[in-house]
Amino acid sequence: MIYQKHIPQEELFAAQLELLMQHGRVATISSNMVGVLAVVLLFWTFADIPYLLLWSAGVLIMLLARSLYMSNALVERSYLSKPRRVYWNLIIGSAVTGLVWSSAYIFAAQYVPPTLQYVFILLIVIITAISVGVTVIIREFFIVYLFTALWPIAWYCLVNYWEQPYNMLLGLLLLAVCALFVVVCNWIYMSFRNMISLNWEREAMSRELGDLTGSLRDRNRQLQDARRQLTDLANVDELTGLGNRRLVNKVLQEEINRARRAGTEVSVILIDVDYFKNYNDTYGHPAGDAVLQQLADLMQRATSRAGEVVARYGGEEFILILPGANRYSAKRTADRLKELVLEERITHEASSVADIITVSQGIATVVPDSEMQPSDVIDLADAALYSAKDAGRNAIAVASPD
Ligand code: GH3
Ligand code: MG
Ligand code: MG
Repeated sequence: MIYQKHIPQEELFAAQLELLMQHGRVATISSNMVGVLAVVLLFWTFADIPYLLLWSAGVLIMLLARSLYMSNALVERSYLSKPRRVYWNLIIGSAVTGLVWSSAYIFAAQYVPPTLQYVFILLIVIITAISVGVTVIIREFFIVYLFTALWPIAWYCLVNYWEQPYNMLLGLLLLAVCALFVVVCNWIYMSFRNMISLNWEREAMSRELGDLTGSLRDRNRQLQDARRQLTDLANVDELTGLGNRRLVNKVLQEEINRARRAGTEVSVILIDVDYFKNYNDTYGHPAGDAVLQQLADLMQRATSRAGEVVARYGGEEFILILPGANRYSAKRTADRLKELVLEERITHEASSVADIITVSQGIATVVPDSEMQPSDVIDLADAALYSAKDAGRNAIAVASPD
């Protein structure tokens, strides 16, 4: 990725052409038109009126044609598709307009008195200043105008210095004006180019930064998703899709803390499948796996409250964590699970307690104190489970509070 982008030359060129036409069109054309009007008024009493009108009509048509060309080029964006052609047409238009003024002066100088000549020169200088001032965006454009409008007049004055008293001074003055215009306009021109380039670079940079921010945000989201998936995977038992022992320890610790703060109870039910080793031996390990999956579904059905967690604690042992449940409420859940397992009627010929799958359950209910650990609660439930097994299996035992 490039961070320091520079405007391509052709793009800079097109931008210059566009700016020149946008800003220069109205100002150059209208100042020249006002100039034509001033000439008509100035020379009305000296010139042949039909010729004067013909000249002014010709110049006005030429100016209108230039204006039309520029608006067309802007609308059709031909400065993008054919920049060279637009460039040369603009230069030629500039040269023709400049020549109109220098030739008009050189022609008029032979017929009108010096005072009028000086006024005319001043007029041409003003028009030139305006035209050049608004077209500094392209160097060749204003230089051509300058050297077709003012330059010939300067040399005409110098060459014919004996004809008028101030011709020599005027010629030198005009040359100086030309030099001044070139220096000042060139300086403005360079600043303009820099400004266009900087503007372009800034936009390119912010565009790129925007893209970069977007892709970073995407990447961040992907990372978060991946992390969440990893955490989920680390907490999930592959066979049943339930939480695993890791999750049990985490959740139980959280629930103990919460219950301690709130002074409420937490119940845990530890569940072990009866004679499951025999089941595997009889029906095979894969069939045993299927039973474990089936039991997992039943356990989820047996728990319905928000916050209740079902997990596989290991092997064929499961655990239910019931936040806020007292021993009676926990017993009801255990009864419901027992019912569901019996209703399922999963054949288990090798069981000594029934010909179907049964489970034994140990319930522990605690109001945690500051020293209570998850393992303490589980030990209690495990002791109860042992009692249930001892009582003949397919049974539910509740740990005594002591
Ligand atoms: P009881 O609990 O009633 O005392 O008898 P049991 O035969 O179930 O004894 P125990 O709980 O000690 O047996 C655990 C058996 O569970 C041993 C093993 O064959 C089986 N087991 C443990 N994990 C899996 C498992 O992921 N898949 C299968 N199919 N069997 C498993
Ligand atoms: Mg066991
Ligand atoms: Mg067992």
